[in-house]
Amino acid sequence: MKTRTVSFFYYHLGLTVFSFFPGIIILLLTRDWYWLPLSICSVNLLGLFRHPFFIALSFHILKPVASLLGGEGFAPEEMVITLGSEKTLRKLGGRIPADRILLLLPHCLQWHDCKLRITFNPYNCARCGKCPVGSLLDLADKTGVKIAIATGGTLARRHIKELRPLAVVAVACPRDLGQGMLDAHPIPVAGVENSRPAGDCIDTQVDLNIVEERVKQLTLIPDGKS
Ligand code: SF4
Repeated sequence: MKTRTVSFFYYHLGLTVFSFFPGIIILLLTRDWYWLPLSICSVNLLGLFRHPFFIALSFHILKPVASLLGGEGFAPEEMVITLGSEKTLRKLGGRIPADRILLLLPHCLQWHDCKLRITFNPYNCARCGKCPVGSLLDLADKTGVKIAIATGGTLARRHIKELRPLAVVAVACPRDLGQGMLDAHPIPVAGVENSRPAGDCIDTQVDLNIVEERVKQLTLIPDGKS
């Protein structure tokens, strides 16, 4: 709940900063002061629709500010993940056939010493239990969703292009996930942040219960089943 509130705050902060530009231009042209508050209110009211355009707009306004602050405690990516995921689940929850959902994973989930090549075929995994990949494959088998592993944004986009999902459940670190959700547009994404107990990009973990919950929230339940 706290993350959601903070995300809404940053979202509207970004829209407010943006709305100064058109407001000041019209103010200078017309010399009527009320264009500034009118511009701020109008952009924020339009932003209530949570359209991906406004989420992206707010992100690109806030990102340079976050970079200046050093990124500590202020990550616009978190805003994209929270608002984008919420919109995806609200709009598409219970409406996507399982085989049109893609579970997209980062390769850093794989145990660093595993010699199996799973990037192009996740089913090469022997499900030994040393990393979460085996359990995520079990989840894909159980639910019928597609699964793919990406080493970065380029491969993630390629998987989405080739597998043509109607929705994606994506696991990644906040930075990659936030940017990836913007890049994936118009494909809707529900994001799950990984945890990084061994540091960035190595032996990362993910809460399997949250991934399963996201998959189930999106999946169309056939008639006669509940
Ligand atoms: S579960 Fe085992 S076999 Fe599969 S990727 Fe992880 S370490 Fe490799």
